Amino acid sequence: MKTPLVAAQILSIYRSSGQRVLLPKRMAPCTPDTKRALQAIQAEVEAAGGRLYLSDLFRSHDMQFQAHLDWKTKKKKAYSPPPGSSLHEAGRAFDLDLGALKVTLETFWEIAASHGVRPIIAAPNPRASEAWHFERRGSHQLVYDYYQAGKASNFTSPYRAMAASTILAIGEPLDLFEGKADAAYVQSALIRLGQEIGNLDGAIGPKSRKGLQGLGVPAGPLADVVAALDDLLQAQFPEEFYDKTPLDARDPFDQTAPAALVA
Ligand SMILES: [Zn+2]
Repeated sequence: MKTPLVAAQILSIYRSSGQRVLLPKRMAPCTPDTKRALQAIQAEVEAAGGRLYLSDLFRSHDMQFQAHLDWKTKKKKAYSPPPGSSLHEAGRAFDLDLGALKVTLETFWEIAASHGVRPIIAAPNPRASEAWHFERRGSHQLVYDYYQAGKASNFTSPYRAMAASTILAIGEPLDLFEGKADAAYVQSALIRLGQEIGNLDGAIGPKSRKGLQGLGVPAGPLADVVAALDDLLQAQFPEEFYDKTPLDARDPFDQTAPAALVA
């Protein structure tokens, strides 16, 4: 099972008949650990007298492509990268209304950090571009660290490698690994489980096979290898696979199969 997507239930900057509405369904899918972090952060912001209103969360490949096009054609001012390089495409990044927070950005950074959520700018300046963008990297931080440490070199930045890993994990399309997504997924898993396999490039070679051996995963059909690695990933990072929201607090479309939810 790849990382499932569940629906965040967070109010958005959007209104209907004057009333603030939940983040629209097509933008609401996120990973279980992102959802839990959002709920916890929301509770803390509200306790401090503020409000957590999101303007964006999930973007499908096509939505990201459109956002990038809108930036390129100057329809949209804020930069949007091409598909394959944003954690929005993995349901792991969200944009929020800084004005509604009521707490300082510095304080919000602390609240976010206590739930494994981080900004992508270097200093808490609310006027900086992307000051509104936060992400829960989860185990994919390990892919960032791996590239940062120079253990692989085929991406233009550690961030891009991490983004690819997050998108592979939910099974969304990634142009870079077209036709070899499962092999790339295996490599992302190996890196997150501590193996050194050289580049995450979608080609299973001797180093990847040695990594599998190191984890006790027998060589075999790719589907079996993926299933074995999924078991290990779920044991190591259970929060990324299971929605621990109590059943009675869930909304019905949380129960929907992830693929149906994204469609
Ligand atoms: Zn963003």
